[in-house]
Amino acid sequence: MKLTLEIDPRSGFCNGVVRAVQQAENYLQYSNHLYSLGAIVHNSVELDRLKEKGLEILSIEDVKQLHDDVLLVRAHGEPPETYELARRNNLQVIDCTCPVVLKLQERVRTTWERIRETDGQIVIFGKKGHAEVNGLVGQTGGKALVISSIEEAANLDFSRPVALFSQTTKDPDEFQRIADFIRAQRPDAEVYDTICRQVAQRHKSLVEFARKHNVILFVSGHESSNGKVLFELCHGVNARTWWLENASQIDMDWFRDGDSVGICGATSTPKWQLEEIFIYLQDVTK
Ligand code: SF4
Repeated sequence: MKLTLEIDPRSGFCNGVVRAVQQAENYLQYSNHLYSLGAIVHNSVELDRLKEKGLEILSIEDVKQLHDDVLLVRAHGEPPETYELARRNNLQVIDCTCPVVLKLQERVRTTWERIRETDGQIVIFGKKGHAEVNGLVGQTGGKALVISSIEEAANLDFSRPVALFSQTTKDPDEFQRIADFIRAQRPDAEVYDTICRQVAQRHKSLVEFARKHNVILFVSGHESSNGKVLFELCHGVNARTWWLENASQIDMDWFRDGDSVGICGATSTPKWQLEEIFIYLQDVTK
């Protein structure tokens, strides 16, 4: 079977994840062990690689029992209580919170301090329970409301002022629809499009990439929230889009002779994983 293969030039880790993985690897060069609060990246293949180097993933419950050690905070960030806990337990924090997320946390905090004076509410368009969202809600002492759809937005109390933010990896079009809905109910609502620019640009380029190929292999961990959004985006424009984590999941029945195959991934998918799929397909179709 003849296939034409192309890796999406814009796919690969986003800057925030590159930075966190680099810092973990730098540390593990000098020490054979490092604790990370939560998975440093939502990608089991990349995680296994880092675990082999000595990375160990802890839950917040585990961290409560940890004392006098070193703890990595991943790119998603954490609420203030986590830093408080680290201080109490004498943990040295390697803070890999993405600078974009840090800025967003600060914006949420300052807006909350202002808007609470007028009984206003902070609304975050995001995934409930996601680490980044928990970090944002933490800036408001747990008072921010998290919504994931227009249906949920409809339940907001529009008699009170509203300031809307977004989790950095959400779909820009969906955010726009929610923002329009909220503005229609409450024209003075404050709307802050806080979707990461890297993510927003990737949405646009990924649609073009998915359109120009017959088949799309979308590579990402199934637990990645950005992965879910980007997979659906590709699938929406190309019905022959397959979501996989590694080359062993490829089914050759997905392809027809002469197909052009695009290989792409989420912000948590390293370039080397896309290259692995590329090489695998090159070998089996020789
Ligand atoms: S998606 Fe954007 S905001 Fe989120 S970690 Fe990556 S670079 Fe930072």
